[in-house]
Amino acid sequence: MPRRAVMHLPLIPIVTTAITLAAVITALRHHLVQAVRRLSPSPPQGRWMGRSPRPLKAVGYWWSPDEPHLPHPRDYVDQAWDPHERQRVVSYLRNAYVHRACMGMSWCRMGCPPHPGDIGTCDMTDGTWLFPEGLAHYVAHHSVKPLADFLEHMRMAEFRAPAATPVGTKPGGSRTL
Ligand SMILES: [Zn+2]
Repeated sequence: MPRRAVMHLPLIPIVTTAITLAAVITALRHHLVQAVRRLSPSPPQGRWMGRSPRPLKAVGYWWSPDEPHLPHPRDYVDQAWDPHERQRVVSYLRNAYVHRACMGMSWCRMGCPPHPGDIGTCDMTDGTWLFPEGLAHYVAHHSVKPLADFLEHMRMAEFRAPAATPVGTKPGGSRTL
């Protein structure tokens, strides 16, 4: 009678992988909950519970040696842009909400000294769009015009970021959700 072949499963790698997957799932769940809270219009009222975070539309992330596929701000310069509207856009961007803080110091792709004071370290949001804190620098100092869809969104909102209950502040007066 032939002996049955017995397959010895590599149990230790399987258990280790399962533990790692569990940790990743826990971390993702935590991140998802935090994202929902940050995007909530009124966190103290608990309206964030059970809601999915809205997918944010990223804009204003520029070319770098590490990300050569991204656009370069020089292609969006519009010196003929109405200066009054440009200033309203700067104000809108600077009064948006902090989505993620301390994402690392950025730098100006238009040739300003390595770290202009307003280039920022945060990712900002108005609840619909996601953009780097430094986008306001490009608009204010280099007349970089935002994408047409984003500009139209700001026009429709009359250049006022949506109201939210601030639960924290950071230097410079930006609010967090
Ligand atoms: Zn610059």
